[in-house]
Amino acid sequence: MTSNGTLSNTSKNTLRDVLTRLEKEGAGLGHFNVSDQVLLKAVVAAAAETKLPVLIGASEGERDFFGARQLAALVKSEREQSDVPLFLNADHTHSLAKALEAAKAGFDAVTIDFSALPFEENVARTKEAVQAIKAVNPAILAEGEIGDIGTGSEIKETAQGGKLSTPEEARQFVEATGIDDLAPAVGNMHGMLKSMVQGKAKKHLDLERISQIKKAAGVFLTLHGGSGTDDEHFRKAIAAGINIIHINTELRVAWRESLDKSLARDLNEVVPYKILRPVVDSVKQVVSSRLRLFHGQTVSPEAVETVA
Ligand SMILES: [Zn+2]
Repeated sequence: MTSNGTLSNTSKNTLRDVLTRLEKEGAGLGHFNVSDQVLLKAVVAAAAETKLPVLIGASEGERDFFGARQLAALVKSEREQSDVPLFLNADHTHSLAKALEAAKAGFDAVTIDFSALPFEENVARTKEAVQAIKAVNPAILAEGEIGDIGTGSEIKETAQGGKLSTPEEARQFVEATGIDDLAPAVGNMHGMLKSMVQGKAKKHLDLERISQIKKAAGVFLTLHGGSGTDDEHFRKAIAAGINIIHINTELRVAWRESLDKSLARDLNEVVPYKILRPVVDSVKQVVSSRLRLFHGQTVSPEAVETVA
C-alpha cells in the first residue's frame, strides 16, 4: 500500500497523474505484458489483491495474437469494475501504422521503438509517431527508446545488447522528439538467461547512469527487460529516477511452468477453466510480488521463490 490511501479516487486519474503521484511517493509503476486473457486476468487480479495501479502491456506480436481493439475493450471493461487504476500500453511499436492503430483503439500509452535505427533516423521516426498519436489523443503517453538491450522476452543462452545510453543523447532525444517518457539502456536486457530463470544469477543496473540520464532527460523513465533483476537494484533504480518497470519473461516462465504442471496433474482433464485457473494464480503471484517490491513493500521469501 502506498502512503496515498485514496485509491477509489485515482481510478479516474490519467496515466500521467498516477506516474506523477508515484514518483512523489518513491514508487514505480509495474508494466506487465499479456498475450491472452489468462495473463490479463492474472495482472488484473494482482492489481486488485495489492490495491496498486498497473500498466498492462502488449507488444506488436502480443497485439496481433490478442487483437489490439479486443484487448482495449477488455481492459476498458475491467477498468470500469476496478478500484485501482488499470492502464494499457502498446509495447515495442515499430511502425507509424501500428502506433496509430493502438492510439485509435484507446491505448493510454505507446512505446515507440525505432532504437534499432541510427540515432538521427530514430529521432525523425519517433518524432513523427509522437505527433501522429497525439493528434488522435493529446493525453496519450508517448515513450521513445535509445540504446540496445536486445529483443524478445525469452530464455536466452547468452546476454544481448550492451550499447548503453548516455545522458547527452538522452537529452538530445527528448528535446528533438517531444516524448513524455524515455526508455534508456542502463544495464537492463530483454529476456532472461537460464541461470536467471534458475535464480542463480541476477541482472544489475548502472544506477549512476540512471540518475545522470534522469537529470539530463527531465522526463519519466522506463526500465525495459526487468525480469531477473536484483531486488535491491530495482529499489535503487526507482530512487534514481525510474518510473515504469517492464516485467514479461518472469510471467511467461510462470505461465509455462504452471501450465505444464496443471496439464500433467490429470491427463483426462479437458475442462479449460479447470486447467487454466492454477495458471492464473501462479502468474498473479509473480505480478503481486513485483508490484509490492516496486512500492517499497516487504516481499516475503515465498513470493521471491515463486519468481525464481
Ligand atoms: Zn521492452
